[in-house]
Amino acid sequence: MKLGFSLEDEAFRAECASWLQEQMSGPFADIKGIPNLCDAIPRRKEWEQQLAAHRWSCIGWPGEWGGRDATINQQVIFAEEYARAGAPNRINHIGVELAGPTILAFGTEEQKARYLPGIAGGTSIWCQGYSEPNAGSDLGNVKTRARIEDGEWVVNGQKVWTSLAHYSDMIFVVARSEEGSKGPKGLSFLLMDMDQPGIEVRPIEQINGEAEFNETFLTDARCPADSMLGKPGEGWKVAMALLGFERGVSTLGQQMQFRNELDGVIDAARANGKASDPVIRQRIAQAEIGLRLMRYGALRMLSNVAAAGIDGAALTYKIQWATWRRDLGELAMDVLGQAGEVAQGDEYRWSMLPNMYLFSRSDTIYGGTNQIQRNLIAERGLGLPREPRGDL
Ligand SMILES: Cc1cc2nc3c(=O)[nH]c(=O)nc-3n(C[C@H](O)[C@H](O)[C@H](O)COP(=O)(O)OP(=O)(O)OC[C@H]3O[C@@H](n4cnc5c(N)ncnc54)[C@H](O)[C@@H]3O)c2cc1C
Repeated sequence: MKLGFSLEDEAFRAECASWLQEQMSGPFADIKGIPNLCDAIPRRKEWEQQLAAHRWSCIGWPGEWGGRDATINQQVIFAEEYARAGAPNRINHIGVELAGPTILAFGTEEQKARYLPGIAGGTSIWCQGYSEPNAGSDLGNVKTRARIEDGEWVVNGQKVWTSLAHYSDMIFVVARSEEGSKGPKGLSFLLMDMDQPGIEVRPIEQINGEAEFNETFLTDARCPADSMLGKPGEGWKVAMALLGFERGVSTLGQQMQFRNELDGVIDAARANGKASDPVIRQRIAQAEIGLRLMRYGALRMLSNVAAAGIDGAALTYKIQWATWRRDLGELAMDVLGQAGEVAQGDEYRWSMLPNMYLFSRSDTIYGGTNQIQRNLIAERGLGLPREPRGDL
């Protein structure tokens, strides 16, 4: 097992690092390091298009669809250098990392031609319509319904926690298309235009003052009959494959962002004298150990992927990083003390560390809660008996 990157990978790192740093110190310096997901939306849309113009938007995709056929190692390296350069959160993360790979895997050639150029070009922003008021961890409980009428799918129901829906052009929706079906059976996976009278988006304010996610109401919302990925009733298979992309490679590269955040905590502790507090020092050391362990765990996973595909150890990664970052958020607030509880300016706005503390509360929820991750480790990783499931 080789824990590290090859010379070719390091050459690739130098190439993308230099481009990213040039952008973040030049034409896009104004959006470098912005902590809030909903800030500077028009500029971040321009940034998507700049990435696309230089073919850095979806590097893991095939060249014919605007990608670079980048290896998994290269994708991780790019994500690391992206965070190191202080580039802003991708407003089209869901399009590039989730919708695109799923369309590549399940779409017809005609569907690929219809949807992929907009994502690769940074002109079509996507959101994810999975969760409902009674269907989160239990996605099989989806109640949104889809029926065919006059050559179109007509969709009725409510989605919730739909990240960035208010800035999105497209949504993928898991809906029940077989009357009377239950659980994962009878679901379908639809690609829908957001700009239509049947879709209403209501932002939900979060604890950091931002409204990054939304309620999304579908009332006779429509899409053409051929906007379904897979066949009617195959939605569960498509939806699960997409979750594989959500929990996969795209999260391995985020450790550089964690490095930046931990360095921010260490700098704050040095500046306000908390670095001399023995308990804070221990917690900082513990955070450093956790980050390095994640780094080597990720490198080990990458070397295994190259040799034999994703193994059971990959199942432990989501709970590991989400819990580590939640703990880092608490450490940050203990280091900052009262200064961390005072918003900047007149508005309820937060600088990087308090914002990280508030947002990290959600890391152990989205993409599968910690409890669900433990179930996955137990059942898929260790082969323990499945927990009882009513509908299966
Ligand atoms: C910041 C953020 C962004 C999000 N963005 C999106 C988005 O863009 N699109 C989208 O569709 N969704 C999104 N979500 C929703 C997210 O996927 C759900 O919150 C998540 O799946 C959990 O579902 P839930 O909130 O309904 O909680 P529930 O599933 O109701 O869970 C409540 C509690 O019960 C526990 N629990 C549930 N089932 C079990 C079980 N079988 N065993 C043990 N414990 C269990 C959970 O761990 C949790 O503690 C987002 C969430 C957050 C926080």
